[in-house]
Amino acid sequence: MPIYEYCCNRCNKEFSLLFLNPKEMKKARCRFCNSRSIRKLISSFSVHQTEEARLSRFNTSQPRGDDFYKDSRNVGLWAKKRMRELGVDLGSKMDEIVEKGRTGKILDEYNK
Ligand SMILES: [Zn+2]
Repeated sequence: MPIYEYCCNRCNKEFSLLFLNPKEMKKARCRFCNSRSIRKLISSFSVHQTEEARLSRFNTSQPRGDDFYKDSRNVGLWAKKRMRELGVDLGSKMDEIVEKGRTGKILDEYNK
């Protein structure tokens, strides 16, 4: 059951809607003024996600834009997910690598 964040174009309030099925998305209305003129907020959903949620939502077969990697928390996520899909358990070693990637330290090592 996906939950989407919306912003109303008429009253400018933000709200989230839960959809039981995709058809309901087309009928989405503002919770406050019932306007159909609402826009989906894409950026906010990832902020509240735990790493587990990010991993499970993450699709390694889809290309990601530059914006994706501007969020440093997403760095290393791909590798981690891929490893999981392949059944490779790198355990704490992987976390270490990912952490280095996120902090930029991994580049220092490659530059040596
Ligand atoms: Zn409204």
